[in-house]
Amino acid sequence: VGVAVPDSNPTYDVIVVGCGAMGSAIACHLARMGKTVLGLEQFGIPNDRGSSHGGTRIIRLAYAEDSDYVPPLQRSYAWWRELEREAGTRLLTITGSLDVGPEGSWLCAGAKDSCLAHNLPYALLSGREINRRFPAYRVDEAHTGVWQPDGGILEPERCVAEQIRQARLRGATILDHVTVSEWSSDGDRAFVNTSAGVFAGRHLVLAAGPWMPKLVDVLAPLLTVERQVMGWFESTDRISSRPDHFPVANLLDGEQRYATYPDVGGAGIKVMISGHRHQVCDADGVDRRIDATDLALLAAAARRCLAIAAPRPHHAATCLYTNTASGRFIVDRHPDHANVVIVSACSGHGFKFCGAIADAAGDLIAGGAQRWGGMHGGQTGNSGAEAASASSH
Ligand SMILES: Cc1cc2nc3c(=O)[nH]c(=O)nc-3n(C[C@H](O)[C@H](O)[C@H](O)COP(=O)(O)OP(=O)(O)OC[C@H]3O[C@@H](n4cnc5c(N)ncnc54)[C@H](O)[C@@H]3O)c2cc1C
Repeated sequence: VGVAVPDSNPTYDVIVVGCGAMGSAIACHLARMGKTVLGLEQFGIPNDRGSSHGGTRIIRLAYAEDSDYVPPLQRSYAWWRELEREAGTRLLTITGSLDVGPEGSWLCAGAKDSCLAHNLPYALLSGREINRRFPAYRVDEAHTGVWQPDGGILEPERCVAEQIRQARLRGATILDHVTVSEWSSDGDRAFVNTSAGVFAGRHLVLAAGPWMPKLVDVLAPLLTVERQVMGWFESTDRISSRPDHFPVANLLDGEQRYATYPDVGGAGIKVMISGHRHQVCDADGVDRRIDATDLALLAAAARRCLAIAAPRPHHAATCLYTNTASGRFIVDRHPDHANVVIVSACSGHGFKFCGAIADAAGDLIAGGAQRWGGMHGGQTGNSGAEAASASSH
């Protein structure tokens, strides 16, 4: 950064760039640790331009991707409950979760393995039993499903707002509508050049979601940003679509994978197709318009797995995935700057992990090794081993 930091600006313990799910959780956690924190967000908080919007996110323990994710998930459940206690409001609603597909598919086998490895309660249900117990669903009767009672939904915009509120309560300075154009580090201090001037911190956390490839050169070859579309369907049965009757689900249907979310607050049942149209994009240049192909794909997905959804979505919106090849997260020190932490908790399944990601970032800031090694891919070459796993919600 070629501009001097004004004398009147303090040196913060940590500057956090990006106040989506991860940046807001990390700012909150660091403020609780007693650090002086500056959080910077280019849009409003929350916003609908990155990866943390759309009313609902799945949280689940039967983690088909790898049972290593279960301990950080258990920690993250505790994080959400603690946040709720301090907020005096509900952010996490338990619905139970379903992982449905052909018997022996990676999704069903993996979900069951996670339950067995961590002694979680679960039940194996046939497709027919799923349709009988949960009338919202009409899954293939020949398929099988793992039902796990702890699955549920988080409300992402409210979660982000609450993390920021609690960060501010503990003294964090959070500036919205401030864009970071560049950053640097001299080893002792990191600097950010922004639309509101230059700021300095002893540490810098970069948590810019789908903007990470632009902000961190070394990540550009490791991350792919992808356009996703969520569709909301009016329900033909108000009771069966409610969170207390509608478990969240991941469903395998041939090559396709769907995720389904109950109706929250009358918005409608939400349906997503993982990978949607596999449209690689740029966070600033992405086409956010919804077209007829998007709507037709969502309608076909709803027809394949739901009994009570209107034939076509009444609303749809884009959202961005930031994918690693392994589907695992990156939470690591920058390979060239030990005081800069890079966080990309991504690949379409990161939201639920806010508490564990905040822990891991806090560990790195405190100078230690990070917890929860199993959920990181080590893609930066600094830690861990990359392991293959498919992403989902
Ligand atoms: C459609 C969809 C469905 C999903 N479903 C699930 C699910 O069911 N369960 C689940 O656990 N996960 C799910 N995920 C994944 C999860 O939502 C993401 O992993 C998570 O939201 C990522 O948060 P983030 O903070 O990394 O990114 P973001 O929320 O995008 O936050 C990054 C922030 O950084 C800001 N920023 C970027 N560059 C700058 C800059 N230069 N200066 C200042 N600010 C900057 C951005 O404006 C943005 O607000 C889903 C994702 C999508 C897209």
